[in-house]
Amino acid sequence: MPLLCALVGAAFGASSAPSETPVALILDSATPLPGEVATALHHEVESIFRETGYSFHWVNRREMRADDSFPDLVVIRIKSTCGGRDVPAPAVSKGHAALAWAHVSEGEMLPFIEVDCARLGRMLRAAGFGESALSQRQMMGRALGRVLAHELYHVLTGSSQHAHSGVAQPALSPAHLTTSTLTFTARELSLLTRRSYAARQTQPPAPTLSEEPVFESGR
Ligand SMILES: [Zn+2]
Repeated sequence: MPLLCALVGAAFGASSAPSETPVALILDSATPLPGEVATALHHEVESIFRETGYSFHWVNRREMRADDSFPDLVVIRIKSTCGGRDVPAPAVSKGHAALAWAHVSEGEMLPFIEVDCARLGRMLRAAGFGESALSQRQMMGRALGRVLAHELYHVLTGSSQHAHSGVAQPALSPAHLTTSTLTFTARELSLLTRRSYAARQTQPPAPTLSEEPVFESGR
């Protein structure tokens, strides 16, 4: 599969500064994100990472060509629809109700993130009640950006550690996802600024990989 070949065969430049090479964020979604969701998502992630020196190149998996190759990339699989409207009825969940998780293999953080938009939509339902469809989609995009920024922090630093507050805290409530701004604390910013995502030759995730559920549903 071209995507996986690009991942395994990529030559990383460990000595380059974070700002020199954008990290390609490969969005793998069964249905395209609505435009307002995508715009809000991009804006939120780029805003959260602005002080780190990282920049991102957004790529839709379905639009990739066989010969596409990216020096640094993270694959983001979007589960269910991120429309911000017509969210399925709340489901009874067993155990973890993670919104997103990064894959880990033998203690190594892999550049592979999954996000469950149905769960995210359910968390936002009360906050979005009575809002216009546009506002709901913008809210979804912003929340999706915060969830993704949390997972990107794990992938880019290679760490499963959490912060006491901000984007990298272990669980985010609906209030965290809908407040006007949510940022990393100074500690996480310093970790991200030190070229944390360098030259990790990784294998694509296998079915037996453990998952790290990092977000609990808001309680
Ligand atoms: Zn986490």
